[in-house]
Amino acid sequence: MKIETQCLHAGYSPKNGEPRVLPIYQSTTYRYDSTDHVGQLFDLTAAGHMYSRISNPTVAAVEEKIAALEGGVGALCTTSGQAANLIALLNICSAGDSFISAPTIYGGTINLFAVTLKRFGIECIFVDAEASEEEIQAAIKPNTRAFFGETLANPAVCVFDIEKFSRIAHRNGLPLIIDNTFATPVLCRPFEFGADIVTHSTTKYLDGHALQVGGVLVDSGRFDWSNGKFPELTEPDESYHGVKYVQDFGNLAYITKARVQLMRDLGCYPSATAAFYLNLGLETLPLRMERYCRNAEAVAAFLSEQTDKIEFVHYPALKNDEYYELAQKYLPNGCSGVIAFGVRGGREAAVRFMDSLKLASNEVHVADIRTCVLHPASATHRQLTDEQLVAAGISPGLIRFSCGLENIEDILEDIRLGLAAI
Ligand code: PLP
Repeated sequence: MKIETQCLHAGYSPKNGEPRVLPIYQSTTYRYDSTDHVGQLFDLTAAGHMYSRISNPTVAAVEEKIAALEGGVGALCTTSGQAANLIALLNICSAGDSFISAPTIYGGTINLFAVTLKRFGIECIFVDAEASEEEIQAAIKPNTRAFFGETLANPAVCVFDIEKFSRIAHRNGLPLIIDNTFATPVLCRPFEFGADIVTHSTTKYLDGHALQVGGVLVDSGRFDWSNGKFPELTEPDESYHGVKYVQDFGNLAYITKARVQLMRDLGCYPSATAAFYLNLGLETLPLRMERYCRNAEAVAAFLSEQTDKIEFVHYPALKNDEYYELAQKYLPNGCSGVIAFGVRGGREAAVRFMDSLKLASNEVHVADIRTCVLHPASATHRQLTDEQLVAAGISPGLIRFSCGLENIEDILEDIRLGLAAI
């Protein structure tokens, strides 16, 4: 099935007489005919649901759909994008380990990596994504366990060179984790370029309607975890009566461990109702992505012409954007609805511009069906030092503009209002 068809049909095929729409299985528990069957579920020798902290039929259908969209072997939904990135890393990193990340990532992820994970003994080494292969290679330590980057960085909309990083990672027996939130599988499928694990904040385009916070991690099933660097996947799991994930689950080892060990222990599994809403968003994802991209292209072109008021426009589909070449390779059908730009006059002018908008709402959100706008230095990236802001590609006057699905003339009219106030 092509992606438009998968968005509608993957994960749930009703049998004769069953509901056409994916039902909400609002139940924490499941009933069994025998104690023996429950034992088999706990031994992981029988397939099925045992408790809705670990799996649920509605959530499972959405997981299967997202795995299909990304071209992976399995997925695990979480209650937030933060939880998805946390589990993706904790599944293979323990105290004493390190991993490498690009600094051009979402501010909340920088906090998680640089502060919270550090408190748990896991070090994040930030390496400039534009560095040469030699420089990136030199940052790898004997305890390094993974690489991390965002396909399209929030908010600077830099394009991450997935193939370059997967080459370096694989040469060193390490997996590459890609946060594909802004691109979505409609615009880029990171597994096709060598990524091993994909994560999303489904709060953004996948849900699309600003209805609920959520996340997901997807396993490509292709990484060789038995190369000696990942004993947690090859040695017996003492918390699971000696399960050996690679030996027992083959190419589902990573995603099975994430669910039965970490989700069991951390308990950040979404409700069936949350998954139901996410599924509604997924059904129209390809249509929406197309419109977001076309609207953003028009806005980026318009802003680029206003050189008296606009200092810079970052949108990788613009021919003069520094990431244009990479975007042609990784995002040939569009670069999402998110644009980053700076108005002349810095922070003060940026605030005047934002406060004059009538249609675009000023909110801590992005990738919504309604156009929204944010000043990252005052909001999502407020906790970063000036040095971290520069590394994340954020100047004090940078505005993140997230095009919705409104008529483009109305969006442009709103921008004209904002510019008139500067
Ligand atoms: N990853 C990216 C690229 C994001 O933009 C965000 C949030 O904005 C997150 C992860 C965190 O996701 P959530 O807010 O769903 O926890």
